[in-house]
Amino acid sequence: MNVTVIDPGATLGVLGGGQLGAMFATVARRMGYEVAVWDPDAEAPAHRLADYSLIKPFSDVAARKDFAQRVRAVTYEWENVPSELCEQLELEVPVRPSSRVLRVIQDRIEQKTFLQTHGLAVPAFYGISWPEELGRQTVLGYPLICKTATAGYDGKGQWKIDRVEDCAVVQQDLARTMRPGSRWILEEYLPFEREVSILVVRSTDGSMRTYPLVENIHEGGILRQTMVPADVPATVADQAATMARSAVQALDGVGVFCVELFLMGDGRLLVNEVAPRPHNSGHYSLDACTVSQFEQQVRALCGQPLGEVRLLSPAVMLNLIGDEVSFATASPATQELLREPGAVVHLYGKRVIRPKRKMGHITFLASTCAEALAKASAFRSRHALRQP
Ligand code: ADP
Ligand code: MG
Repeated sequence: MNVTVIDPGATLGVLGGGQLGAMFATVARRMGYEVAVWDPDAEAPAHRLADYSLIKPFSDVAARKDFAQRVRAVTYEWENVPSELCEQLELEVPVRPSSRVLRVIQDRIEQKTFLQTHGLAVPAFYGISWPEELGRQTVLGYPLICKTATAGYDGKGQWKIDRVEDCAVVQQDLARTMRPGSRWILEEYLPFEREVSILVVRSTDGSMRTYPLVENIHEGGILRQTMVPADVPATVADQAATMARSAVQALDGVGVFCVELFLMGDGRLLVNEVAPRPHNSGHYSLDACTVSQFEQQVRALCGQPLGEVRLLSPAVMLNLIGDEVSFATASPATQELLREPGAVVHLYGKRVIRPKRKMGHITFLASTCAEALAKASAFRSRHALRQP
């Protein structure tokens, strides 16, 4: 493949200006690129780090033209940007990962069908287009989990259903929130032993880099804590890496991908979902690796060589969710945290605190995972955050 390399000095576009867009912008600027951030929300944190900020709806025709003219390439911070916008931008500049990849990934039914077709194990699933179909399906047993096919994140747009009698209530929710064309995916609820995830980066020339497997703890569908490396047998980590690489290869994706998997008690691995972008569970790479997920995003976007992946230290990343952020932004807690050896604090600068909103994270680096876990756990007990 003959791909033009984009060298420092060029302007890179990112759709979405949340913390992921902000971390991309910070790293891209450190590497000598300029950054154009497009987010309709004027308060989005990445705007403050942008060389050029576009605060217009994604549907704005003039804004689309303007953005395409200013940037040499486009990426996005999450999968819920309009794929049709990416398709249009792609006529002018490279969009990585491509709109085709985005289309497959942003619909949970399409994504799971794609993965299954390519030989990857996924939870049993069933797509529905009408709320009434929920109670009628007999393919999956109970408990099951119902998710909106598109636009969900951090566990939003999900309902766990324990028995058929509970369907009626959820059906009402679906009917109330449905839009034209709404669909939902029903999945068997897996009694997994652990949740793990892994970053895979793929370049324009098809070469790949794989990060170590990490172990995640979610609370209410939202990531709480990540530990790296995962405490699993090497065979499990190898298998996860092989599955993740084959998913990205099958997608023919260029960019950073995070593959979330469920590890069952019997050692089986199933793919939960694939994100076509840097991921919250990969934030440790900013402080604990030679090359972070955001630097790889820049490298892949620009057709530059991918970076060597080396874990420099075991780490535990703890998310600060909602008003927990106040434990990191008010002394004496702030000072205590800043005195802690190996603790790296990241605050996203979001002005409004909302429940379940990701406000920041702390990476605890230590010579062993056990030590990093102990530091994270001590922080949580000091501030009465729930323990995983
Ligand atoms: P999101 O896009 O919100 O991250 P996910 O599909 O990853 O959506 O679901 C969020 C979390 O909900 C998962 O990390 C997991 O903890 C739980 N979950 C999702 N699907 C299942 C399932 N089929 N069985 C058991 N738990 C699940
Ligand atoms: Mg997820």
